[in-house]
Amino acid sequence: MAGEPQDDCLFCKIVAGQIPATIVRETETTVAFQDINPQAPTHVLVIPRVHYRDVATLSAAEPAVAADLLRETGEVAAQEKLESHRVVFNTGSGAGQTVWHAHAHVLGGRGLQWPPG
Ligand code: IMP
Repeated sequence: MAGEPQDDCLFCKIVAGQIPATIVRETETTVAFQDINPQAPTHVLVIPRVHYRDVATLSAAEPAVAADLLRETGEVAAQEKLESHRVVFNTGSGAGQTVWHAHAHVLGGRGLQWPPG
């Protein structure tokens, strides 16, 4: 069922503590941890504890949790003392999504080009 933990979901396993992660912040509804393959000096993923396949599905079903997620991206940027940063939600395989549990990338610590590839 949407929102319920999925046995085959990597990020649900991180939420459950079944797979190790370098956690930088936690709230009642979100977990933030270091990306295993960082694309910038700071590269943190912020995920909801509940399982939805992408941010569009999450925000439609649980807008309050989506708002928590968005707020947490700013809290991570402040905690990491980023002067500027980028928040990315890859949504769909054509946009580069590879993990099917909603997540925000928080990237910073270097110059970021626009438009992205
Ligand atoms: P996506 O491509 O937008 O779906 O982002 C998935 C991200 O998850 C990628 O940046 C991966 O490097 C990251 N990732 C995959 N497995 C792990 C893990 O076990 N711990 C932390 N990050 C991971």
